[in-house]
Amino acid sequence: YTVFVCAETPCLSMGSEDVYRAFEAEVKRQGLSNVAVEISGCHGHGLCNHGPSVVVEPEGIFYLGVRPEDVPEIVSAHLRDGRPVERLLYRDPKSGRLIARYHDVDFYRKQCRVILRNCGRINPEKIDHYIAAGGYRALAKALLKMTPEQVIEEIKRSGLRGRGGAGFPTGRKWEFARNVCSPEKFIICNADEGDPGAFMDRSVLEADPHAVIEGLTIGGYAIGATTGFIYVRAEYPLAVKRLRIALDQARAKGFLGKNILGSGFTFDIYLKEGAGAFVCGEETALIASIESQRGMPRPRPPYPAQAGLAGKPTTINNVKTLASVPIIIDRGAAWFAGIGSEKSKGTTVLALSGKIVNAGLVEVPMGTSLSTIIYDIGGGIPDGKRLKAVQTGGPSGGCIPARIPDTPVDFESLAMVGSIMGSGGMVVMDEETCMVEVARYFLSFTQAESCGKCVPCRLGTKQMLEILTRITEGKGQEGDVETLLKIARTVKETSLCGLGQTCPNPVLSTIHYFRDEYEAHIKEKR
Ligand code: SF4
Repeated sequence: YTVFVCAETPCLSMGSEDVYRAFEAEVKRQGLSNVAVEISGCHGHGLCNHGPSVVVEPEGIFYLGVRPEDVPEIVSAHLRDGRPVERLLYRDPKSGRLIARYHDVDFYRKQCRVILRNCGRINPEKIDHYIAAGGYRALAKALLKMTPEQVIEEIKRSGLRGRGGAGFPTGRKWEFARNVCSPEKFIICNADEGDPGAFMDRSVLEADPHAVIEGLTIGGYAIGATTGFIYVRAEYPLAVKRLRIALDQARAKGFLGKNILGSGFTFDIYLKEGAGAFVCGEETALIASIESQRGMPRPRPPYPAQAGLAGKPTTINNVKTLASVPIIIDRGAAWFAGIGSEKSKGTTVLALSGKIVNAGLVEVPMGTSLSTIIYDIGGGIPDGKRLKAVQTGGPSGGCIPARIPDTPVDFESLAMVGSIMGSGGMVVMDEETCMVEVARYFLSFTQAESCGKCVPCRLGTKQMLEILTRITEGKGQEGDVETLLKIARTVKETSLCGLGQTCPNPVLSTIHYFRDEYEAHIKEKR
């Protein structure tokens, strides 16, 4: 047996470290030499509020709410005598049925785990676990059997698009960078996840840091980079700690440093901790922050691919994009391209939250419908209430009304209904949600995070927020909706960076689909 005790942030906060120590001590005390005790990343979110969770492999038996005092019983009944402890197993809230194996829980069964493939299945602090799961095989294949051009071609054929929000084809991005002639180039992993309620990147970094390091190194080889950086939020101390451990282990094994695997390719990766400004997720602001300047976007061109970090050609990829790279190289472009929709290949990781029975991280093929995610995986709306709308894409995303529940979740389909993929936030709202308040809430976040460099965003977000606030306070005036639309369109069209260009989306989409709510608020006052 291997006992995996979840050691990701939610379970740690509920005492999983003590549970891990209790297992170690009890297994030793009972002299069970066939049992290994390991920490792991999240076994598959959705039940984090019932932690700490423990999985016993190879059976996949799933315990929730384990306390140190429960450990002697699990060790003697299950690990010694082969009888799982029923009272700690998962019980389906609808049917009341006991579900022993986590693979059988609806929340997991209907997912397709590509980016989260190792989460909960390996000890993220042990490189040997990652290697045993096939890790660094893709790096060896790329470096020893493929030219950089062949790596780029494989990524292009896979159809992989950036998971940070823009959805730009990764292979083409790498090709641009490859074709720029420079003795020094950089590749950066953007791990500055700042959307409220989003924790996709954090989970990958905490549970499977080597996947990101391997993807970044393959990317470095493809574009001809000399150095890589991982720009990670300082508010993610566990991710930072695990990345540091993983980088040291990768160097010790010869996967980073001089002449990697005897291929002649020399490359190393450094960590840079960001101070938590949302705008630093924007490429040029992120580069400025690494350069120790104030994190503010700058006009493009020149694009980072031509003149980025220290004026050198620089490529930036998101955590999930890079975590997808090793498995594409390992299993082939055709395998990856076989998942997803026509123009959006592979899977997407979503942070499902709001008025939903099973909140948590969900990984599904691109093109999966909203209703499948909300009802089949998310378990529907609590307390028998009706679905009203879904907001996708983080604070800059639009709200999609319940009347179009079959909207596929991919780059094109979400754009068609006025929203965005963003980095994967998905907030579910029930019939009692006020949509004007929703727009006000998201705009208050982006307004506070605006760096203030350009006028449309700096003043436009402030004016929109003032109008939204007075409407929700019952002080709305005739003509407010038209004024909001005018300002929102101006901010969208004339702002310098993505923050300003997308932050009016919640306002525009709620006015488009729920204008009657705005008018009702204004009428109420009169
Ligand atoms: Fe700063 Fe907003 Fe202008 Fe972006 S759009 S540069 S965040 S003021």
